[in-house]
Amino acid sequence: MSEKFEKLKSAEEASVCHTYGRYPLAVARAKGCRLWDLDGKEYVDLLAGIAVVGLGHSRPELLTVINEQYEKLVQVSNLFYQEEQVALAEKLLATCEAGRVFFCNSGAEANEAAIKLARRYMRKVKGRDVSEIVSLLDSFHGRTMGALAATGQPKLQDGFEPLAGGFAHIPFGDVCALRAAVSERTCAVMVEMVQGESGIKPQPREWVDALLALRQEHGFLIIVDEVQAGLCRTGKFWSHQHYGFVPDIFTVSKSLANGLPMGAMLATEEVATGFVPGSHATTFGGGALISAVASKVIDIMVEEDLPGRVAEMGEFCLAEFRKLLAKHPDKIAHVRGVGLMLAIELANPGQDVHRALLDAGFVLNLAHGTILRLLPPLVIEKADILAFVKALDGILKG
Ligand SMILES: *Cc1c(COP(=O)(O)O)cnc(C)c1O
Repeated sequence: MSEKFEKLKSAEEASVCHTYGRYPLAVARAKGCRLWDLDGKEYVDLLAGIAVVGLGHSRPELLTVINEQYEKLVQVSNLFYQEEQVALAEKLLATCEAGRVFFCNSGAEANEAAIKLARRYMRKVKGRDVSEIVSLLDSFHGRTMGALAATGQPKLQDGFEPLAGGFAHIPFGDVCALRAAVSERTCAVMVEMVQGESGIKPQPREWVDALLALRQEHGFLIIVDEVQAGLCRTGKFWSHQHYGFVPDIFTVSKSLANGLPMGAMLATEEVATGFVPGSHATTFGGGALISAVASKVIDIMVEEDLPGRVAEMGEFCLAEFRKLLAKHPDKIAHVRGVGLMLAIELANPGQDVHRALLDAGFVLNLAHGTILRLLPPLVIEKADILAFVKALDGILKG
C-alpha cells in the first residue's frame, strides 16, 4: 500500500465512525466502468457502488442535466409543486402497473414509507386493525429501525433492541412456513424477488405462486423491495415482472439517480389512498435537481433498452462463469445470477481470492466470506467480463 493510502486510512480511522470493514482501496476518480486509486492505478468496476451507478460513472448526459438544473432550481421543499418531480413520477409509472409515487432519499427510507403506508391503508381505508409484516430470514431491507426490524438478520439487529414490533420472519423458499405465518391478522408480506445482500438468491416460482394465492385468501398486501433488483438490474425493468404479478407496494433506490441519493415508494392507486396530506413527508424527497437527474436516468434506460441489454449480458456472464466452474469444480461451489446480479460461490473462504482480484485490478464484493458478488454497471462490456474471468481463472490455478 502506498504512503498516500496509509495516510488517508489513518486519518479516516481518527475521524469517521468505525462502521465499515473497508477494502484496502481509496477511489480517487471514476469514469464509465473504470475506477482509479490515489496513485493512478486503474480498476474495472464490477460493483458499481453496490448496484448504484447503473449507467456507469460520470455520464456526460447527466452532467449536462446537473449543470442546467442547478442554475434553474435545486430544492424548495415539498410545500411546493415542482415540474421535475411530476415528470419523474410519470416516467416511473410508465414502466410498471403502480399508480402513485412517494419520493425519499434512500432504500431504507423507501421501505419505511412502504411499512407505514401498508399499516395505515389497512387501518384507515380497510378498517382492519392489522399490523404484522412478514419478511424473510437473510433478507435485507435497510438499517433504520423499521427497516432493520423487517431485515431477517439477527446479527444486524444485535445491540439495538428493542426493535420495532410487529415483524415476523420465515425461512427462504419455504411454502409451509409461509402458509403457517400468514392469516387474516397479516398486514403485509415484504420480500426481495432476488435477495441481494444474502448472495443473489432468486425467489422460487412456486413460493411466489403460493404467496399470490395466500394474498387472495387473506387480503394482505405484498411489498416488493426493488431497491437492489429494480431498474433493469435483473434484465427486466422491475424484478417482480419476471413473476408476472402486480405488487401492492414496491420500493426503489440504489440506481435511481445513478449515484446521487434518491429513493421512491410506488403503490397502486388504491393502496396509495392510505396516505393523506400530513401522513408522511420528507424534506429532500423528490427535489428538483435530483428528480431531473433521475428523469434522465429513466430516459436513458428506456432509450438504450437496458432491460434487453442486461438480460443478454447476464446470459453471457453466466455462460462464462459456468465454463470457469467446469474448470475448477474443486474451487467453485456454485455460480448463479439473474441479469447483472451475479454470484460465484467459492468452495472455501474467499478473502485471498478477493484480495488477489483487487490487486489484479477488479473491484467486486465478497459476501458472507465465500460469495464473489458482481453488480457491474448495466453498461459493462463483454471484454471487461472476459478479462475478469481470465484473472479469476489464473488466481484459482495459482
Ligand atoms: C441497499 C438495500 C437497502 C437499503 O438501502 P439504503 O439506501 O442503504 O438505505 C434495502 N433493501 C435492499 C434490497 C438493498 O439492497
